[in-house]
Amino acid sequence: MTTDFEITSAANPEIKSIRALNTKKGRSEQGAFLSEGLRHVLEAARVGWTIRRLLISKTARQGPLLEEARTACVASGGRVLVVPPALMERVAKRDNAQSVIAVIEQRRRALTDIPGDGPGVFLVLEDVRDPGNLGSILRTADAFGISGVLLVGTCCDPFSVEAVRASMGSVVNVPVTEADRDGFLAWHAGWRGATVGAHLKGTDLPRLRDLTGGVLILMGNEQAGLSAPLSDICETLVRIPMRAGSDSLNLAAAAAIMAYEATAAGLTAPE
Ligand code: SAM
Repeated sequence: MTTDFEITSAANPEIKSIRALNTKKGRSEQGAFLSEGLRHVLEAARVGWTIRRLLISKTARQGPLLEEARTACVASGGRVLVVPPALMERVAKRDNAQSVIAVIEQRRRALTDIPGDGPGVFLVLEDVRDPGNLGSILRTADAFGISGVLLVGTCCDPFSVEAVRASMGSVVNVPVTEADRDGFLAWHAGWRGATVGAHLKGTDLPRLRDLTGGVLILMGNEQAGLSAPLSDICETLVRIPMRAGSDSLNLAAAAAIMAYEATAAGLTAPE
């Protein structure tokens, strides 16, 4: 028995609410986000995220993996919608859209669920504004086994289409926590691990791999850098060496170097 529902019109209310997930308002009202591509949708399903809707293009190639995605969607109480390719493009807001797009329920980790005695390496991003940077950092965090990303202050949405695309699906593998600055500082008062800031005025080389126990790595905003209140709670400010005269590294590049330094001792090379 098929579980598919066919929709052909962009005026269909279900399609309209799915298209609304391209906006921050729509995502926060519905508590959901869009994930594009069969590989990323399956990854989310396999690690237990709830798929509310699965959109499949009428021209999608059928096969066992697509069937697995269908089954995961229906098992989590969702609906499978089969739509023409032009409608997939309306949803994705671009030409040559993927043939599979899912509506996935958002998930965040509360600050209070992160124990103050660690362990783990956490990236703390203050006022990150560029969703491309945030997505790249989530991808890096996933690759290096970072325990979580904390978004402090006014940050862009980790579930925006741009951030999810840049994360290459990693948004489902890295727990994300959001906090305002005061809430983070209050929580940090109970943190018993190390706190290291990545800062252009830092003096130490980033030799972090000898740190044991929990580590918070604080990274600053793309323009303003790390604020004084967050710099002040760091025991160490680290400057990644650069050629004389070089201004700064891109935030995502600096985060990748810091994350690598903090986790390298436990990493294994890809096969
Ligand atoms: N004009 C800003 C400033 O003065 O900090 C530059 C911000 S930079 C583009 C964004 C963030 O990346 C910084 O706040 C810092 O956390 C990190 N970063 C960039 N280059 C770095 C470096 N060489 N050493 C340590 N952190 C760096």
